[in-house]
This record gives sequence, C-alpha cells and structure tokens, in this order.
Amino acid sequence: MPSDVAARAAIPRDADTPVIEIDGVAKSFDGVPAVDDVSLVIRRGELFSLLGGSGCGKTTLLRLIGGFERPDTGRILIDGTDMADVPPYARPVNMMFQSYALFPHMTVAQNVGFGLRQDGVSASERRRRVAEALELVQLVGLDARKPHQLSGGQRQRVALARSLVKQPKLLLLDEPLAALDRKLREQTQLELVRIQSQVGITFVMVTHDQEEAMTMSTRIGVMQAGRIVQIGAPGEIYESPVSRFVADFIGAINLFEARFVRNDAGRAVLVCAAAGAELMVGQPIAAAAGDVVCIGVRPEKLRLSRDAVGLGANRVAGIIQDVAYLGGQSVYHVRLDRGLVVRAAAPNLDRRGGAGLAVGERVEVSWSPDAAVALSE
Ligand code: ATP
Repeated sequence: MPSDVAARAAIPRDADTPVIEIDGVAKSFDGVPAVDDVSLVIRRGELFSLLGGSGCGKTTLLRLIGGFERPDTGRILIDGTDMADVPPYARPVNMMFQSYALFPHMTVAQNVGFGLRQDGVSASERRRRVAEALELVQLVGLDARKPHQLSGGQRQRVALARSLVKQPKLLLLDEPLAALDRKLREQTQLELVRIQSQVGITFVMVTHDQEEAMTMSTRIGVMQAGRIVQIGAPGEIYESPVSRFVADFIGAINLFEARFVRNDAGRAVLVCAAAGAELMVGQPIAAAAGDVVCIGVRPEKLRLSRDAVGLGANRVAGIIQDVAYLGGQSVYHVRLDRGLVVRAAAPNLDRRGGAGLAVGERVEVSWSPDAAVALSE
C-alpha cells in the first residue's frame, strides 16, 4: 500500500528530454536470460525506480546502464550517444553501490573528495565542492570523522555526497537504503527526494520495496523474469495494474475469477461463481461472453457493513474470520458464504479500532464498479 508520506519527486519541467534510451537490450549469464528484451526511455530529472522481486534482473539492468556489464543484444544511449564502446569511467554516470564502499581509513571529507582528487581538481576547488556536497546531505561538521564513527544513515549520506560531488548527469542507486532500519529508511527516502529535486540529476534506483518505490519515484518500471511488465507513475501502477503479477506485487489485492457477460453503458458485467455474485467493472472489457476474466479489487476499496446493503452487483456477504489491528487501520478477512476469503482494510477512525467489527460477525461487503480492475494473466 502506498505510504502516507507524499515524498514523491515532482515530474521534472523538461520531462520530455530522454537521458537514457534502452532499446531491445538482452543479457544472459551462462545461457540463462537475466535481462530479456528491455526497451525503456528515462527522461531528464526523473527519479525512476526499477522494482521487482529477487533475481528479476534489476541490478543487471542497472549495471548495463553503468557499463559494468555489456549487453548481448540491443543498444543503450545516454544523452543521445551510443554507449556500446564507452567504459564505465567515461560514462556521464555515477553508481552508488549497496555497500556504499567508503574507504575506512579516510575521513568523510577525503571520501567525498576522492573522485575529484583523482580527476586532478585543485585543492581549493575540491574543498569548496566537498563543503557544498556535505551541506546538501546535511553532514556539516562531520567532515573530519572516519566512517566507523558514523551511524548507518550518516554513512549512506557520505556515499551520496561522494556520488553527487562530481555532478554526474545520471546517478544509479542499487538498493540505496537497504542497510537502514525502517524509521531511518523512511526519513532518508524523503531526504533523497529533496536532494534529487534540488540537484536536478536523473536518478535510477533499484529496489525490491514497493512502498519505497511508490513514495519516491516519478515513474516505476516493474520487472518480472528479466522483462519490464509495466511502466507508470506510482498511482497508475497501483490503481491500474495491467496483470495479476503487478497487482499482487504492488500492495494487496482481492482476485475474483469471473465469466464475462456483456458490456453495458460503459461498464462490464460479469458473474463470479466463487463469490456467488454479479460483478460490475467501471469500464468495458475486451472479452467475449463466457470468457473467464480476473477482476481485482484493493482491500481498502471494500466497504464492510453490519446492515444489509441490498441486492445488486459487487455485493457479497460473509463472516469475519479474523481481524489484524495495525494501528492506523485494521485488516479484516471475511469468509464469504461460498468459501472464498476476501481481505478488507478500514481506517481506525476512532479509538475502538476501525468499524468496531469483531470476529464471527456477519457482514455485507460491497464496492463500487470504479474500484474494480480487469487483469490479464
Ligand atoms: P536481487 O534483488 O536479489 O538483487 P535482481 O533483480 O537485482 O535481484 P540480478 O542481480 O539482476 O537480479 O540477477 C538476475 C539473474 O541473473 C539472477 O538469476 C542472477 O543469479 C543472475 N546473475 C546476475 N549476475 C550474474 C553473474 N555475474 N553471473 C551469473 N549469473 C548472474
């Protein structure tokens, strides 16, 4: 479910200029595809997340952009230039690794200024740029410390300052917040978004954490088995997932297998035997009568009521099987009369906890046609 915190990066003004163009890229290891025919355009100033489960090819795609792997087929252009023969160090790109890879014997300032020193930047210019970078990541005053004298979050910010100090066009981040605990992770998400919009550098971030991707990104590319299966703004991916996989990966969803009946006045009508109900979806579905279609409804879009809500589509009845109290909301599992179990989430509007419904109570469950979405396999 999306985070309450609206940290999301603003859609950049010059959002139409492509920075990265990936065209039909594939990469296999020992004959096994890790990245499979990916085409993708990332625009200037975006905070783009590659999101997917373990082993789906996110890191490999990031490493291909950085030049640490070579594609078997396809092209990668950065700022219009084909990167085929450009080694990592000559690309206008910086990569921040999961481990941060700070030099333990160097101070914060030396770590941040290391790349500038390598490039032969003068000492006075280096001092100025390091100070600027440390101010950006709010580490002023810690420049003489060594990495072991810092907290995990501070080390993460040193690594970020070091990545930004050379002002790359593009920063690649591999699970940048993985080492932080939950609270610090949430704060740092906000901070990364602030810094990204301040410096205006395009960020491409790998994460397996859907809340993180939802909170931070301008757009998300969802990956499955080496392919990008959906690209969109967080709201689009959450509200209009294209497939069961995406719907299930981003947040929780109730799935109903239903037979298509007809499209009628801009809506689709279906019948779901497992729920014992007629279902209605707020837009037409391209299907023939009798086709089985999977319909998804997010838990927070289900309404629970003790009173009968009357006959009609998207109305079912059942018994509350269990309640999970999560503080801000409660999650109810309702066993419908035909055995199917649905999940409903309700905000806890008062201190009694949610709708005040208890295990064993009989409830009616309903939702609006616009809450439902048809999903492909
Ligand atoms: P995770 O979230 O677990 O890091 P990921 O989505 O980043 O996963 P990748 O690291 O891109 O996944 O790996 C994709 C597939 O390619 C995996 O099956 C992995 O085992 C394989 N792979 C990646 N790098 C290599 C390599 N250097 N040699 C052999 N196989 C590799």
